[in-house]
Amino acid sequence: MITPVLPTYARAKVAFERGEGVRVFTPEGEAYLDFGAGVAVTSCGHSHPHLVMALTDQAQKIWHTSNLYQMPGQEKLAQRLIDATFADTVFFTNSGAEALECAIKMARKYHSANGHPEKFRIITFEGAFHGRTLATIAAGGQAKYLEGFGPKVEGFDQLPFGDHDALKTAIGPETAAILIEPVQGEGGIRPVPPQCLRGLRALCDEHGILLIFDEVQCGIGRTGKLFAHEWAGITPDIMAIAKGIGGGFPLGACLATEEAAKGMTAGTHGSTFGGNPLATAVGNAVLDVVLAPGFLDSVQQRALTLKQKLAGLKDQHPTIIADIRGEGLMVGIKCKVPNTAFQAAALDQHLLTIGAGDNVVRLLPPLIVTDADISEAVDKLDRAARALEVRASA
Ligand SMILES: *Cc1c(COP(=O)(O)O)cnc(C)c1O
Repeated sequence: MITPVLPTYARAKVAFERGEGVRVFTPEGEAYLDFGAGVAVTSCGHSHPHLVMALTDQAQKIWHTSNLYQMPGQEKLAQRLIDATFADTVFFTNSGAEALECAIKMARKYHSANGHPEKFRIITFEGAFHGRTLATIAAGGQAKYLEGFGPKVEGFDQLPFGDHDALKTAIGPETAAILIEPVQGEGGIRPVPPQCLRGLRALCDEHGILLIFDEVQCGIGRTGKLFAHEWAGITPDIMAIAKGIGGGFPLGACLATEEAAKGMTAGTHGSTFGGNPLATAVGNAVLDVVLAPGFLDSVQQRALTLKQKLAGLKDQHPTIIADIRGEGLMVGIKCKVPNTAFQAAALDQHLLTIGAGDNVVRLLPPLIVTDADISEAVDKLDRAARALEVRASA
């Protein structure tokens, strides 16, 4: 018999009813260390007092009006994102996939507004993940997500990850944009080298096409800068964000330059809930935390601690761990055993992690994680690895 909730997730047999900082608690009061943060969502940890206050204060004023009216909370959040980035304008959504949909539509509309409606194709990369709508599964190009859902949405050309020659020949008269995650998340924590991001920027400029970054997972301080592309010293024309900006409240956004957004006039796009007063109140509170002086420096410090400790763990468990990779607090442990086995062993130690492609276990702790939390997590991973070694030798 089908479950009451559509069974599209293979869920772990554990539920949490309360969270505090880097820890979540079962109804029985058992604590788990949360190094998944709901897939890089709870950027400020659970029940952050400043976020709770922002949400509850707003809840007592007004929950929803409509994008048919002025939205002061949205305007404030948009202006702050603009002040902190390359962008001149922002469209708010409820999710990452919707932010990408806006980005895709905007790139097509840009060329159409320039008199080139034939330029609608977008180049993407193998291993990418951009969401689960019909357009974003086509953009992501993963067979397992496309299978059975009818003809793939037209207009996405996928290239191998890191194949520079393929890239140069793939740009044609119909190409509108290049879409890439500066650090691939679901694909297995694969950072794009800064010189490659700079190369993509130059290539887009040369061909008059748009560069779109998907920072849904790697943005909002995750790599130790507000956005991952800042490490490369270049900017995109359009950027999709979500996950961390809401700190656990559903919120996404599509940021763009004035030039890239020039086709998006009144009536061309919309969302009922996008940028709702509750969501933007929390988004503003998240920025208060992440943009506070010294916060991103402390993320970089914690990231260094995590990377050093994981390097030690790898040396201790050469039959379990093949490699450690990533940027900041977005770390991938490439496994020699099935990643699901390592994850299950970590769960036995009350440590939450997230699986990814390429047989990787992801660590995406809340950005407020401390060195003590990191030591505890690495101890748990050590015990998990030992348990797998004992099982293998038995
Ligand atoms: C999670 C994710 C998305 C999709 O976001 P949803 O909120 O699940 O729609 C898109 N791109 C990247 C890089 C992601 O990690």
